[in-house]
Amino acid sequence: MKSLQDKILKEGCVLGNDILKVDNFLNHQLDVAFLNEIGKEFKNRFENKKIDKILTIEASGIAIASIASQHFGNVPVVFAKKAESKNLDKDVYETKVYSFTKAKEYSVKVSKKYLNEGENILVLDDFLANGRAALGLKDLVDQANANLVGVGIVIEKGFQDGRALLENKGVKLESLAILDSIENGTIKFI
Ligand code: 5GP
Repeated sequence: MKSLQDKILKEGCVLGNDILKVDNFLNHQLDVAFLNEIGKEFKNRFENKKIDKILTIEASGIAIASIASQHFGNVPVVFAKKAESKNLDKDVYETKVYSFTKAKEYSVKVSKKYLNEGENILVLDDFLANGRAALGLKDLVDQANANLVGVGIVIEKGFQDGRALLENKGVKLESLAILDSIENGTIKFI
């Protein structure tokens, strides 16, 4: 997605050799009009697929998934919860995810009410690095005996292992921008 590449070059900033910060439009402040373009592009990438629900993970995935949903006929958006909460149902699907950015493992949960057998689920998220978040979401879909239609990612870091891991498990992966490298502060796309 050329407009996304341009936006990353213009507004993104690199931390070390492996973290891209896009707080200006995706991870802190949200550029809603641009997220709408992202939503439209996800619809193009999964054009002929039947999608019953979009599944994402809090927090950054929520805005992306919600805006994208409007291009998929306003299907419900479910977000997996990371935080412990007294409000969450006791009857949950749960999996463990290792966080690349926080360097620790955490538990993610979805109430069993919101993922059902046979539903066609599209997973959307902001970044793909080593694929742990996406694989965790796939595990929740599998536990529910739902169907994972595919995984849509805004920014894939192509120099990490996420794609290989997902494709080895037969997952259809669509990334709107793929970074080849971000070494020495220079962003290169594949
Ligand atoms: P993975 O689970 O694929 O290793 O990492 C993906 C998750 O880590 C994403 O949900 C995202 O929140 C976070 N993440 C990984 N790499 C980056 C990065 O370079 N920049 C930002 N902003 N988040 C990242």
